[in-house]
Amino acid sequence: MKKLTNLKTQPNIQESRLKENIELLDQIRADAVNDIESLTEDFQHMTLVAESVQRNYRALLAENQLLKGTLLSIIDECGCGQGNRCDRCWKLLKILASDNSEEKPDAARKYRAILSQLRNLE
Ligand SMILES: [Zn+2]
Repeated sequence: MKKLTNLKTQPNIQESRLKENIELLDQIRADAVNDIESLTEDFQHMTLVAESVQRNYRALLAENQLLKGTLLSIIDECGCGQGNRCDRCWKLLKILASDNSEEKPDAARKYRAILSQLRNLE
C-alpha cells in the first residue's frame, strides 16, 4: 500500500511541473503578442511622422521652386540682357546656382558626391 501511494505522487509532481511550463509558455506568447502590438503602434507612429516630414519638405520645395522662378524672371526682365549682366543679376544667378565659390568651394559638388555614394550603398 505504501509503495502504491509513492508511485502515485511521483507523476503528480511531474504533471504539475509540466502544467507550470505550459502556463509559462502561454505567458511568454502573450508577452510576444503585446510586444508586436506595441511595435506595430510605434511603426504606425513613425510612418505618420515620416509622412508629415515628407509633406513639409514637398511644401518647402514648391515654395523654393516658386522663389527661384520669380528670381529667374526678374533676371530675364532686367534691362542688362544676356552676356552683359549687371551686378545684381550676377549675384542672383550665383545664389540660384549655389555658386558661392568665394565662401564654400564646391559645396554643391561635394553634396552631390556624398548623395551618389549613399545611393551606391543601397
Ligand atoms: Zn540685370
